Amino acid sequence: MATLSKEAAQEQILALRAKLNKWADAYYAQDAPVVEDAVYDQNYQQLLNLEAEFPDLVTPDSITQRVGGEIKSDLSKVEHPVPMLSMGDVFSKAELEEFDQRIQKLVGHSVSYNVELKIDGLSLSLEYTDGKLVRASTRGNGRIGEDVTKNVQFISDIPKTLPEKLTTEVRGECYMGKEAFLKLNEERDEKGEQVFANPRNAAAGSLRQLDPQVTKKRNLSTFIYTWVNPPEDITSQHQAIQKMKDLGFHTNETGKKLANMAEVMDFIDEYTEKRDSLTYGIDGIVLKVDDLSLQQKLGNTVKVPRWEIAYKFPPEEQETVVHEIVWTV
Ligand code: NAD
Repeated sequence: MATLSKEAAQEQILALRAKLNKWADAYYAQDAPVVEDAVYDQNYQQLLNLEAEFPDLVTPDSITQRVGGEIKSDLSKVEHPVPMLSMGDVFSKAELEEFDQRIQKLVGHSVSYNVELKIDGLSLSLEYTDGKLVRASTRGNGRIGEDVTKNVQFISDIPKTLPEKLTTEVRGECYMGKEAFLKLNEERDEKGEQVFANPRNAAAGSLRQLDPQVTKKRNLSTFIYTWVNPPEDITSQHQAIQKMKDLGFHTNETGKKLANMAEVMDFIDEYTEKRDSLTYGIDGIVLKVDDLSLQQKLGNTVKVPRWEIAYKFPPEEQETVVHEIVWTV
């Protein structure tokens, strides 16, 4: 393979960053992507590869070094006490095996994973004081998010009061079910309004509204999967999920603790098959080191936790078309 000169690499890197920044802005700030996810992912991967080959060309403002996009909405801003990160992803089972090998090497032994569906929505943080919901926010750029406290009052599966007087933060995915998504797009189409490209963008566009009455009409749901500061007797991800369920959060029933990669691969096959029959969208499977103390030990990069990874499903037929989406408004 001919190696690229540094100048040529720099040129390609700048061009890829400009393109990805433009696409990310449409996706994160406008909730209206202009390319398919698979196209974005391919270009992002190219940038990652080039930056790995030329590490001194990596700059802090590169899209590979930051979470999400620029926040442009008029919603109030919220600082996250603990950053909300993105997640590393892989696109093949072989790369998933490599992830497991890497983890085993880092911790010195094999580990169990809590394996969960990767819900296609947007991250949501919920903060409680003495058992009362006091603040809800989006991920934003990971450090600063948008305040959606008023909007989540209308999401019925979010507990506004907990059965215990806990001061705590949980996180999960806010999503729009497939049926609600189709109905919303039908209504928008009838009114001559721009339809949402997918349930993820519909959920983001519906939650991030200045007028919470709009959110009220949109039929949003949540799956809660992260406990930011669990009590000491919670030592694993699967226990955290069980306890959050007991507290009244809507958790996804399909997640399970698996002891080896053969079981993980079976889980992937099962949900690749069942994906279309689910009532909500998923775009992959998430593997999380189950032991919370090991998660702590493994820590994070600037952008992603080292203890979790997403296996992304291959793009569906219609998503493989490499072109910019043309909106018919
Ligand atoms: P991501 O959406 O690929 O993964 C991280 C997110 O997964 C988390 O923040 C969380 O919200 C979510 N998630 C869902 N289920 C989860 C679970 N069970 N446990 C933990 N987290 C779970 O990463 P990202 O940084 O939000 O976005 C990058 C992705 O967004 C890209 O890979 C691309 O597919 C898409 N994107 C597309 C465009 C476009 O133009 N089409 C632009 C930007 C980003």
